[in-house]
Amino acid sequence: MTTNTRQPQSAWALLADIVGGAASVIKGHVVTLRNWLRPKVTGQYPYRDPAKEWVPKPGYRGDFALIHDPERPGGLRCIACMACANVCPDKCIHIIGQGKGKERHPAAFDIDIGLCMYCWLCVEVCPVRAITLTPEYHNVAFTPQELIRDINDLKARGEGIAEPLLPVPIERSVLQPPTAKKKDVSEA
Ligand code: SF4
Ligand code: SF4
Repeated sequence: MTTNTRQPQSAWALLADIVGGAASVIKGHVVTLRNWLRPKVTGQYPYRDPAKEWVPKPGYRGDFALIHDPERPGGLRCIACMACANVCPDKCIHIIGQGKGKERHPAAFDIDIGLCMYCWLCVEVCPVRAITLTPEYHNVAFTPQELIRDINDLKARGEGIAEPLLPVPIERSVLQPPTAKKKDVSEA
């Protein structure tokens, strides 16, 4: 047989419990109300107000681009050396090279940004600074297939980009700005 050891609650203790409970409910509602009235810091995506387009911070690593060189076959600086494809830890770069020597260029250049972890190694390893990450952040899609960038996408995004964009300040980067050509001594 068990005995009930629970003591009946005094009226004062009961009242204190009720007041304490009510105070915490009011406190919770005050927090909710305060946040509800605060200006919004989030926006709906992708149905945003174009006037409030987000501007990425310097160094943001977004979608890829290939840098142009109108004097080379294919109009790209890339020499299809495969260094970026080989270094990529996620194996998301696939290139088909064409031509030999100075004529070598990519016939196909695909990057699967769905696999990419934006480590920047491909940009760092490129011997001719032909590939870059850009601040383009609209890299969302409904199917994995839509996340594959081909040579035409990469070339189009490279329009107007003269040099790879650096994700860190120039003094901390392994990429250096192009050095001015040495003046011919005979000109002096
Ligand atoms: S940023 Fe990194 S993961 Fe993405 S393609 Fe380049 S090397 Fe591969
Ligand atoms: S982007 Fe650079 S590293 Fe990649 S294949 Fe072209 S030249 Fe080589």
